[in-house]
Amino acid sequence: MSTHFINNRRVPGTTGETIPVIDPSDGQVFAQLARGNATDIASAVRAARAAADGGAWSRLAPVERGRLLRKLSDAILAHHDELAMLELRDCGKPVKQAKADATACARYFEYYAGACDKLHGETIPYTPGFAVMTVYEPHGVTGHIIPWNYPMQIFGRSVGGALAAGNACVVKPAEDACLSLLRIAEIAADCGFPEGALNIVTGYGHEAGQALADAAGIDHISFTGSARVGTIIAQSAAKRHVPVTLELGGKSPQIVFADANLDEALPVIVNAIIQNTGQTCSAGSRLLIEASAYERVLSLLAPRFTSLTAGPASMDLDVGPLIRQSQLDRVNGFLSEAQQTKLRIIAQGSVSAEAPSTGFYAKPTLIADVPASASLARDEVFGPVLAAMSFKDEVEAIALANGTEYGLVAGVWTENGGRALRMAKAVKAGQVFINNYGAGGGVELPFGGVKSSGYGREKGFEALYGFSVMKTVVVRHD
Ligand code: NAD
Repeated sequence: MSTHFINNRRVPGTTGETIPVIDPSDGQVFAQLARGNATDIASAVRAARAAADGGAWSRLAPVERGRLLRKLSDAILAHHDELAMLELRDCGKPVKQAKADATACARYFEYYAGACDKLHGETIPYTPGFAVMTVYEPHGVTGHIIPWNYPMQIFGRSVGGALAAGNACVVKPAEDACLSLLRIAEIAADCGFPEGALNIVTGYGHEAGQALADAAGIDHISFTGSARVGTIIAQSAAKRHVPVTLELGGKSPQIVFADANLDEALPVIVNAIIQNTGQTCSAGSRLLIEASAYERVLSLLAPRFTSLTAGPASMDLDVGPLIRQSQLDRVNGFLSEAQQTKLRIIAQGSVSAEAPSTGFYAKPTLIADVPASASLARDEVFGPVLAAMSFKDEVEAIALANGTEYGLVAGVWTENGGRALRMAKAVKAGQVFINNYGAGGGVELPFGGVKSSGYGREKGFEALYGFSVMKTVVVRHD
């Protein structure tokens, strides 16, 4: 697989250098990737430009684009298990999660297939003698920088929307998670996508990623990843006045009031921090509990955490391995700090005896009495670690919920309708869930952050406006 995918063909990297691909379940190298650089990015951008600037892709009627996207959706489903198994090995995703991601990727292309011929402008009443219309046009070539935690899902939501709006795409997947996307690009070519519509260059962020952010010929950048790198991307794009969408990190609160229906809330709260081994931008990683229910909720959660087991992806346990050694070191660093600062560790799950010692396994952990100033309450752990704290009333709940640099997602659990609406209004986040969390991740639901969680929206129809440019056409006819 140590090739890029440009102009519907696998092409070797210009330097011949490679990046080892490691299976997080056992820490062993099992494949190599091409280590792309600025030259490889430039050739992918040339291919995309040709497709966007008068090539076959740009000449397709929206309905035909939609048919191709639908064909790709069906083909992803036809290759569903193959793609899921690639991500299982590449990213350490437990079987159910890997399969869910392949299904979601197909669903994105299905959704955006139906949207291609529905993105229309308006006519505007203006001075007599003029006819005015707005039209949505593609940017041209869009660059997509993808993280490793949900490669297929984020590819589907970002590239699916961009293609639907008529752009040609250059994609730089994360160096830890390329295999499924290279395969999907081949499948797209087999479906009949014109040359240059979809190109993938693999490589490190500071090399291929930076080259993509800096490339002349890129008209829009969609970046999903850390806030730190998001700043670098926005700075690069600003030099050429290129618009960006930034989908960054989060430290999302789950806010539990004393009147919450705990039978419904508790399993959702646990799942929101262990899904994908806690490596989810929208993980519910802070648990804010009304003081009068604090100890009761913690004692009910404790056995749920104790019973959790981490193990190899193929065993499909509650939790898989983390993506790589440095991520395991990071998670263990937070756990050591919690011990050193004598935070109350309420419960900890286990690692399966069958897990290879060379894999990257962390124990799911519930920690209580975390001060709002602690790094555990402010920084993304990106692992299965839930930080709990109490609040006395709505005012304090809002202050705590909004008290980090992030604002991606929030969950509110209460049976009081008025309070639910007040909280939905007061919490600064791109999505607020009342008496649920994530809602199954619906592709129809616009998604994105405020503050350091980023700006712009992907998912839903809203994404198509971000992947387009509005043009106003004024015709004088008197
Ligand atoms: P990261 O920022 O390290 O890397 C993301 C991507 O950027 C990778 O493809 C990487 O190779 C590339 N990159 C790194 N340095 C670069 C540079 N200088 N120039 C250009 N590209 C560069 O993030 P990660 O560790 O892969 O992903 C985890 C982060 O992503 C977390 O913060 C998580 O919350 C966030 N995330 C956000 C969303 C969202 O939708 N808001 C979704 C998933 C992940």
